[in-house]
Amino acid sequence: MSNNINKTGVIGNPIEHSLSPEIHNYWIKQNQLKTEEYQKIKLDIDNLESQVSELIKNKFFGLNVTIPFKEELYLFCDDVSGTAKKLKAINTITCNNGKIFGTNTDPDGFINSLSNQIKNENITNKNALVIGAGGSSRSIIYALNKMGAHVTLVNRTFKKSEQIVRDLNIEMQIESFESINKLVSGCDLIVNTTPLGMTGHKNIEIDFVNSKPNLHVYDLVYNPIETKLLKDAKDNNKTCQNGLDMLVYQAAESFKIWHGIYPNINNDLFSILRRDK
Ligand code: NAP
Repeated sequence: MSNNINKTGVIGNPIEHSLSPEIHNYWIKQNQLKTEEYQKIKLDIDNLESQVSELIKNKFFGLNVTIPFKEELYLFCDDVSGTAKKLKAINTITCNNGKIFGTNTDPDGFINSLSNQIKNENITNKNALVIGAGGSSRSIIYALNKMGAHVTLVNRTFKKSEQIVRDLNIEMQIESFESINKLVSGCDLIVNTTPLGMTGHKNIEIDFVNSKPNLHVYDLVYNPIETKLLKDAKDNNKTCQNGLDMLVYQAAESFKIWHGIYPNINNDLFSILRRDK
């Protein structure tokens, strides 16, 4: 990185609630990097590409991309990673010598966060139930497939599950949203990729009574930190993870791409993020 081109940040709309600055600035400080503070930048929906070009002219070399620009900016990149190509969506832009490279660190972030909590042998050839078929679901399914899990996908709108099967070309089972409680007993992992359970949203009601003893439950929601789903799982002695893990681990992948350092993921950082909730 040249001394002049030293800015990083996250672009999206809305962006006010993004925790990415807390995460990246913690690591920038910890590693004593001579870059400017990581910023959050709200972009207009219109003329997106010219706004991004303007940021690059203004010395931004690394940008995280969040909702709703992940798909549109995929098409804007000069080159993209294999993962981005598969998902047709990016969350990380790196600008090198005027060329824009796009990648998607969500799948690796998810894999690393999950591997940090449970052994890979409890995923490979095991049954994973993914709830939801939106943008984040694609990354999770791609990641679980890479880990060798057998994925079952349930979504409120069945057609969207069918679309994911077509787009990702990954072998998986698709079932109706209403069948969740019938599927639970066969699951080794459940991942919620819907906003259900988030503050202001309805909860997902899962009956864990007949579930496997080693079932692990991962909720991508992190507001609140402990959703009703995670509380119910914990009350039934299941291991659990909340969405802050995925958020931090995908950020670590972007940080490594830009700064060449895999940052230290520690409790201090998580407690800073939890205090904001
Ligand atoms: P999205 O693309 O809008 O997809 C949302 C999914 O949730 C859709 O499949 C939708 O079903 C389903 N859904 C929404 N409301 C529902 C309801 N009332 N009942 C049943 N299903 C419902 O969203 P996303 O980008 O994937 O994000 C989903 C959640 O994950 C959000 O809470 C987000 O904050 C969280 N997330 C966390 C991380 C992290 O790093 N922790 C990363 C990404 C996202 P339909 O298809 O029927 O509409």
